[in-house]
Amino acid sequence: MASPYNRIYNFSAGPCTLPVPVLEEAREDLLNYKGTGMSVMEMSHRSKQFGAIMAAAEADFRSLLGVPSHYRVLFLQGGASTQFAMVPMNFLQEGQIADYVTTGFWGAKALEAAHLVGLCRKVWDGKENNYNCVPDMQALEFDSTSAYIHFTSNETIQGVQFKSDPALVASLVCDMSSDILSRPVDIENYAMIYAGAQKNMGPAGVTVVVASEDFIESRADGIQPIFDYSQHAANDSMQNTPPCWSIYMCGLVYKHMLATGGVVAAQALCSARSSVLYAAIDGSGGFYRGHAAMDSRSMMNVTFSLPTEELSGTFAKEAEKAGLDGLKGHRALGGIRASIYNAFPLEGCVALADFMGEFAKRNG
Ligand code: PMP
Repeated sequence: MASPYNRIYNFSAGPCTLPVPVLEEAREDLLNYKGTGMSVMEMSHRSKQFGAIMAAAEADFRSLLGVPSHYRVLFLQGGASTQFAMVPMNFLQEGQIADYVTTGFWGAKALEAAHLVGLCRKVWDGKENNYNCVPDMQALEFDSTSAYIHFTSNETIQGVQFKSDPALVASLVCDMSSDILSRPVDIENYAMIYAGAQKNMGPAGVTVVVASEDFIESRADGIQPIFDYSQHAANDSMQNTPPCWSIYMCGLVYKHMLATGGVVAAQALCSARSSVLYAAIDGSGGFYRGHAAMDSRSMMNVTFSLPTEELSGTFAKEAEKAGLDGLKGHRALGGIRASIYNAFPLEGCVALADFMGEFAKRNG
């Protein structure tokens, strides 16, 4: 069936597909937001109208993830990469050590940033196995005095994902950039969660931070205010001009999610989408080889390779011509990566699985 806007299947790793009803609503509001005579892009962040947009976005996000009242929700800028630096600046103090579990490219980046701030321990590192699996967090040995434990719930490039929230007696900090809102989360297991918006929540430009009030208060003294979580919290994410448009768009996505079954429905869909693609890999008689170990397979980023890199290149090019866009794997891993976030249509996965079958027949 032709899409009403000639939209293609966009497998981009982020920014990526957003729900069509959300884009339609934004279009509707673009020139005159609800009778204000201006766009949200043109509105003062101190205005009553924007205040209401921000409050609704926060309330809906809280409702989606069941965020308890003693946790703050902040809308910050600088991407998840800024969080890589802010977390140790705030919580890795003189004489302390932070523990890092590194399951892929982004976790390694987070550790690199923390090393510049203070002492870190690599408790587990998947590099030796080319980051193809995640460990059992419960079985790892953490230092009981560590400042915090950092990990990445879903590694976007390698396509490996933790399936549940570790229950540890420690300050757990998680980068959930590429799987936030794709399943229910036990927020109280974490001291802090952060996620760039541009995969499951909205456009690029805003990073959502969820942190317990106690953790925020434990931050180091003397941090530049703009990097200080307690300052952002005290100013309700308005210490400086927030990314108004991105927050507004996230708000629309949250409303859309609430109206379509929330994170429980999102999880069922993620499972359905990824199952279609993993079945195509597993049923290909070895032509397609999945990168992730079975029990670590990501529901968001399905990574696989073909017999040669050259063939992977041909695959990506031919797929693009067939309306299946953005499949070339990240340069750090090669092969193919199908990113299938919350707003990605299931039919797109079926179309890709069909294409995979047909391509393997022609080239196998
Ligand atoms: N963490 C993860 C898991 C990511 O996927 C990304 C971006 N793809 C980042 C961090 C970095 O995010 P940003 O580009 O927003 O800084």
